[in-house]
Amino acid sequence: MIGTKFNRLTVLSTGIRIGRRHYADCKCDCGSVKRIEITKIKSGHTKSCGCLLRQLMTQKQTVHGRYYEPEYVAWRNMHKRCTDARWVKWYGGIEVCQRWFDYDCFLADVGKKPEPAYTLDRINSAQGYAPANVRWASRTVQSRNTKNHETNSSGVRGVSWSKAKNKWRAAIYVDSKQKHIGYFELLTDAGLARIHAENKYWGAT
Ligand SMILES: [Zn+2]
Repeated sequence: MIGTKFNRLTVLSTGIRIGRRHYADCKCDCGSVKRIEITKIKSGHTKSCGCLLRQLMTQKQTVHGRYYEPEYVAWRNMHKRCTDARWVKWYGGIEVCQRWFDYDCFLADVGKKPEPAYTLDRINSAQGYAPANVRWASRTVQSRNTKNHETNSSGVRGVSWSKAKNKWRAAIYVDSKQKHIGYFELLTDAGLARIHAENKYWGAT
C-alpha cells in the first residue's frame, strides 16, 4: 500500500494502530503530511489533507458570489425565459445556444454590462440567444426597437406599449372592468405580471 495514491493522498507509511483503527501517514498533493484512517482513504471519504474541501468551499463561495453579478442574473433569466413554462408562452421556440449553457462562455461572448440598466437584447427577435444575435442594450435602444417592430400591441394578451410612459403596460379585465396591473420595462415582466393577475383574479388555469 505504501506509495499508492488515493485521490490527493499518497501513502507514506502504514502500520499505525490507535485502538481498533488503522492509520496511514499520507502526503497530500499540496505537500502537507497527515495521519488518516486507512478505511477512509480507501473508501474515498477522505481525499486530501483537508485542502480539497477548503478549495471546494472557496469555489462554492465564488459561485455564490457570482450569483449576484448582474451578468449572471441576466444569464439565469435568459435560460428561465426559454425553459420556464410560464415564460415559454411568449418565448416559445426561442432557444439558448449550446455554448451559452456555460456561464463563462456566455460572459466571454457578451462581456460585462456597460451599465447596470442595460439588459440583454436579441437583435432579431425571431432568433434565439446566440453570440451574433445578442447584445447589451440600454432601455432607450430597446424601446426604440420595440416601437419600430410593434406599434403598441405586444402580441401578449393584456400587455400593450404605453407611449406616454415609454413602458409596457399590463392590464386585466375583472368583472368587465379593466384593472391596471402596472408598467414594466420588459415585455416579459409585463407578461409575467399579467399571468400572476390571471391566477389571482381568474383562478389558475
Ligand atoms: Zn492537501
